[in-house]
Amino acid sequence: MPRDYYEVLGVGRDADEGQIKKSFRRLARELHPDQNPDNPEAEDRFKELAEAYEVLSDRDRRRLYDSYGHDGLRGGGYSPNFDGGSFSDLFSAFFGGGGFDAAFGRGRAAGADVAVGVDIDLEEAAEGASVEVSFDAPVRCHTCNGNGATPGTPIVTCERCGGQGRLQAISRTPFGQVARTIACDVCDGAGRVPEEPCTTCRGAGLVQETQTLSVDIPAGIEDGQRIRLSGRGGINSPSGPPGDLYLTVRIRPDERFVRDGDHLITVLDVPFALAALGATLSVDTLDGEHDVEIVPGTQSGEVITLREKGMPRLRGGRRGDLRVVVNPVTPRKLDRKQRELLERFSESLHDGNDAAEESMLAKLRRLVSRA
Ligand SMILES: [Zn+2]
Ligand SMILES: [Zn+2]
Repeated sequence: MPRDYYEVLGVGRDADEGQIKKSFRRLARELHPDQNPDNPEAEDRFKELAEAYEVLSDRDRRRLYDSYGHDGLRGGGYSPNFDGGSFSDLFSAFFGGGGFDAAFGRGRAAGADVAVGVDIDLEEAAEGASVEVSFDAPVRCHTCNGNGATPGTPIVTCERCGGQGRLQAISRTPFGQVARTIACDVCDGAGRVPEEPCTTCRGAGLVQETQTLSVDIPAGIEDGQRIRLSGRGGINSPSGPPGDLYLTVRIRPDERFVRDGDHLITVLDVPFALAALGATLSVDTLDGEHDVEIVPGTQSGEVITLREKGMPRLRGGRRGDLRVVVNPVTPRKLDRKQRELLERFSESLHDGNDAAEESMLAKLRRLVSRA
C-alpha cells in the first residue's frame, strides 16, 4: 500500500494548491538527480513524491483520493507509472527543460565557491591577525579575455543551434513525450563559438589559477570558525559573478593555555614548600609575565583567577579570564639533608596544621572538575 499522499508531501489535508506546490518543490530540490548521483533511494523517493503531487495537484484526482483513498484512484483509472525514462527525464518532466538550475533559479552563471583553511597561533587569535591565503580558483582566461577565441580570430554563429543557444529535445517520460529546451551542447548556450579556440583555455574562457589573498582575522575567533568573503571565490562563466571564499580558521594547540570559550586555563607549578609558606610567583599570560600571590596553605587544584587576561570576545565586550590552576609539586628526589629535614618536619605535624574542614566531595571538586 502506498503511503498517504499528504504525509509524503508533508502538508495538511486542507492544504491549498499553492502550499502543495511549494512543498513539492522544496522536497524535490533535495532529491534532484544532480544532488544524489547513484542514490537509488532518492529516485524512489522522488517517484513517491511525484505520484503524491500528481494526485493532489489535480482537483478530480484529489477529490477521489480524499473520498476513497488509494483504492478509489485505482478504480477511477489512475495508475501512476514512473518506471520509463531516466531519473533526469522524470525530473525534467516536472520542471521543464532548464532542469534544476532553471527550476530553482540557480543559473549556470552563479559563481564558484571556494573553501580554504588556515592555521594560526593562539596569540594571533587573541590579537587578530592578517594572514595570506592561497587557493586555486577558476578565473577569466588572460589570453582570450574570456571569449574563448585565439586573439585576432573571429567568433562565429554556432552551426548546431543556428545561434539560438538552445535545442529542442524530445524525451519519453511516463507522461508521454515531453518537448524540452536544453542548452546547446556545442556553444553551451552562447549561440556563438570561436572559429579557433584559445589554446590556453581550450575555448572555455576560464583557467584555474592560484590566487593569494590577505585576510583579516578578527580578535577572539574560535577554532574551526568560518569566515565568508563574499565575491572572493572563482567564476563559473567568463561573464558571470564570482562565488564566495570560505576560510576555515584553525587554531594551533598552545603549550601554555587551554581555551574554554573566552577563558584560558593554565597550570602553575609551585614547590610544595612555597604552597605551604606562601609566595609571589610569576605566570605566563597572553600579555607577558604576570605576578600572582600564592597564599600560605594553598591546596592542590586551587584556582587563581586573573580577570580579563583571557581571550577577547569576538563581538566586543569584556575579555575572558585566565584561570591559574595551582599545582604544588612534590620533590621526586631528596638528598640526605633534605630527607632529615622533612622527617623532622613530618614528626612535628599535628592536627592543628590542617585547620580547614573540607569534605571529601569538596576535595574531589577542587581536584577533578578544573581540567
Ligand atoms: Zn582563453
Ligand atoms: Zn550552439
